[in-house]
Amino acid sequence: MTLPSTRIQSMRVASRNLLPIFLACLMAGLLGCASVAPAPTKTYSAMTQVSTYPALDIGLYAGDVTYAQLEQAGDFGIGTFNDIDGEMIALDGKFYQAKADGSVHLADKTMKAPFAMVHFFQSKQQMVLKEPQHNYDQLKTTLSQQLPSANRPYAFRIAGVFAYLKIRSVPKQNEPYPPLKEVIARQAIFELRHIKGTLVGYWMPQYLAGLNVPGYHLHFVADDKRIGGHMLDCSLTAATVDIDHLDSLKLLIPPSAAFQSVDFTRAPK
Ligand SMILES: [Zn+2]
Repeated sequence: MTLPSTRIQSMRVASRNLLPIFLACLMAGLLGCASVAPAPTKTYSAMTQVSTYPALDIGLYAGDVTYAQLEQAGDFGIGTFNDIDGEMIALDGKFYQAKADGSVHLADKTMKAPFAMVHFFQSKQQMVLKEPQHNYDQLKTTLSQQLPSANRPYAFRIAGVFAYLKIRSVPKQNEPYPPLKEVIARQAIFELRHIKGTLVGYWMPQYLAGLNVPGYHLHFVADDKRIGGHMLDCSLTAATVDIDHLDSLKLLIPPSAAFQSVDFTRAPK
């Protein structure tokens, strides 16, 4: 059987059109093999960090990044505000400000963050804590036993019932800014009992010590969003823990003259 000439012509046209597509696919395959960074996928978790913890330690509390910009980089995270005016908790796409009186407010998008860590949270590991965790050290040990490696950052969302909770927030400062240890010396501490809420935060590996504080850093916000802060200690009755395994870290380097001119060799140790 012979094909009608018009059909043969259309097949030849089709095969000529396919050649550049084939070559493009071949090139893409070769480039893919040579690529160092993994291609972003649906489950790829990229954290954005604003400034460095040593910068905060020194007293650089004037931010360059607005909360409108920050919400483009994540729906989950922790940080602070201009003039170190309280603790930030980002959960389910909402950014909360826990002030020095413990009260929680939705952050205004025009506010700025001198330090923050945010990303789009994806639960890659879940565990249900049925045994009480009597203090923060026990909770840290329980969580760390579940981590596949100590050499990558992790994000934690811990929704639970707390028999006891000790949180703090820091009071707004004016320029010239004192170092962080002087601000923390004047922190407001709140002790809560029998409260439901969520711990939000990260675990950072040792090799990021120049940018952040290795280990756990968790902030709390109550289910009713009436109180929140930086978590100092806790006793958990029960909790559901969701863990995200982070794949990359993007650092936003402040362009401010204050950051650009500071001597980091004199950062508090
Ligand atoms: Zn904190």
